[in-house]
Amino acid sequence: MEEVLRSILSCFSSRSRSRTRTQSHGLWSSGASDKNKSMVEQLQRYGVIRSTKVAEVMEAIDRGLFVPPGGSPYHDSPMPIGYNATISAPHMHAACLELLEKNLQPGMRALDVGSGTGYLTACFALMVGPEGRAVGVEHIPELVATSTENIKKSAAAPHLNDGSLSIHVSDGREGWPELAPYEAIHVGAAAPQIPEALIEQLKPGGRMVIPVGTVFQELKVVDKKLDGTVSIRDETSVRYVPLTSKDAQLHAS
Ligand code: SAH
Repeated sequence: MEEVLRSILSCFSSRSRSRTRTQSHGLWSSGASDKNKSMVEQLQRYGVIRSTKVAEVMEAIDRGLFVPPGGSPYHDSPMPIGYNATISAPHMHAACLELLEKNLQPGMRALDVGSGTGYLTACFALMVGPEGRAVGVEHIPELVATSTENIKKSAAAPHLNDGSLSIHVSDGREGWPELAPYEAIHVGAAAPQIPEALIEQLKPGGRMVIPVGTVFQELKVVDKKLDGTVSIRDETSVRYVPLTSKDAQLHAS
């Protein structure tokens, strides 16, 4: 599915770049937020975004603030962010927000493992609001520092200030027990198997979305029922960077 979507959606950046608008005082190039809006509209048009709330949140959080200079933030493909990591493609972020939407209601708790640029953690913060908690865990301290700076420039900045959004330097395979249990857990890197700690930290009624596998990976949807039993299904085939140790990641060829 990812390949098909990539070819369908790869027109984002070129289309939005050439777009101009006429206003009474003259002609001006569309700004960053217009490009972000066009990206969201494309994702809606192709049915990747169905929820109004997800569309609103992705419109509010400008992806351009999270992709390093030289990247194409509105292009539907993953982009390098250094440290052998990538920011996921817009359609993957959208798909994960859609899968988790019911578990990202105001007041709920969400954990983003491998938070990288902080983009999805920022989206989570807007979804769960000031009464909820959006928690990012990332093991590269430099990425945590940059993601915090990115979020400060974004619409999620107030959530950093009021403490409803936090990003921590830690091994995400252990989750973040301090704020568990979570209604929603997103894992942004592929695990060889589902870490037990993450299943434990999922609240009954909660949902985790996690890519599992090494070369070939499946995006798994893990639902914990109210009686504590867990059901797991495959959503789609994906390609993510590994959920691994910091050393293994930094020394990967
Ligand atoms: N979802 C993020 C980043 C995806 S890349 C985004 O879209 O911006 C995967 C991220 O997981 C990388 O930033 C990588 O450093 C991180 N990561 C990999 N293994 C990890 C681990 N064991 N603990 C915490 N973070 C990890």
